[in-house]
Amino acid sequence: MNDVILRTPTVESVIHCGDGAFARYAPALAARRLFVVTDSNVFAYYRYLIWQTFGDETPVHILPAGETSKTMRNLTAILRAMVQAEIKRGDTVIAFGGGVVGDIAGLAASLYMRGVRLVQIPTTLLAQVDSSVGGKTAVDFEGVKNLVGSFYQPEEVICDPVFLKTLPDREVRCGLGEIVKYGALDGEIYSELIANSQNLKTPEFLDKITYMCVRHKAEVVSADEHDLNGRRKTLNLGHTTGHAFELFYRKKSHGEYVLIGTYYELYIAEKLNVCGHDYAESIRKLINAVIGKVPAFADVRSAARLAKFDKKNSGSQISLVVPAERGRCAEISLDEESYPALLEECAARLKSRAK
Ligand code: ADP
Ligand code: ZN
Repeated sequence: MNDVILRTPTVESVIHCGDGAFARYAPALAARRLFVVTDSNVFAYYRYLIWQTFGDETPVHILPAGETSKTMRNLTAILRAMVQAEIKRGDTVIAFGGGVVGDIAGLAASLYMRGVRLVQIPTTLLAQVDSSVGGKTAVDFEGVKNLVGSFYQPEEVICDPVFLKTLPDREVRCGLGEIVKYGALDGEIYSELIANSQNLKTPEFLDKITYMCVRHKAEVVSADEHDLNGRRKTLNLGHTTGHAFELFYRKKSHGEYVLIGTYYELYIAEKLNVCGHDYAESIRKLINAVIGKVPAFADVRSAARLAKFDKKNSGSQISLVVPAERGRCAEISLDEESYPALLEECAARLKSRAK
């Protein structure tokens, strides 16, 4: 087990990583007054653990499982249940679940009485390596993902791989998508991925790499908590195109689209001489190791239009964060004509290879 400390100018959070972290750190929380938020799937698997650890009198608010639960209505329902449970300023919200639970419960904790204590217990690989760390909270609003939210650091995060045992393979691939992203940002993570490319899904590997990703993210967030100086933006590597494909096609998981986006963006980075061929090839191999063949999408032009709405862009330029070399990424800006044209070239190449 390893602890990571995330320091910002205003708070310090501690992230406990590793096998046994839940058993070691969660029971102490039962001494406080708690309000647990989870979802219906997670509750079905872990209701006895929740009752046993936090006491069966502890209020548990159960959201419907799924991406579409991050609504204002569900946020209001959580706040109402907190009032009914007579939650006070010094009490603690526990977000027990994946990224959806973490985002909405974190927002509720930041709003209720101007902020109550918050502990994140992420149960998906994606939430463990990425979304539970860094204090971003949000719900979707007016059809826009994560439009309404806040920065609100949890006091404590408990990342225990024990929860991954029940996680469906699709969700493991989803988390691996972000892990490969960290590999493109951090040389040590890259080497670890390359050395283990044949056993990326083993518990031992996931245990170790989760700690490394959390450490990387905590460092970035400490340097740029509010996404202002460019450091935190690097965490969007592969996301401009990945997110556009995700919005347009909506079939695979977020992390898989991030990998597909990274693959297409690597083509652009190589073509513009931002990234060398051998390094690009090694990242492509990692991507293939997680998701198999990358699809040659038929309509990248329509998908590319959605990249325009990305929060990172300024004016009509499309901004991409791409791998450059081991341990270094670079930002590329493209205009509205060349970006879809380059994506089309990549799709055409993928198609001709598939024949
Ligand atoms: P993410 O963490 O990928 O942002 P979600 O919070 O929607 O997204 O979680 C993905 C799915 O996995 C949801 O259906 C959720 O109920 C389910 N889930 C979360 N944790 C576990 C777990 N430990 N075992 C099984 N299913 C889980
Ligand atoms: Zn992501």
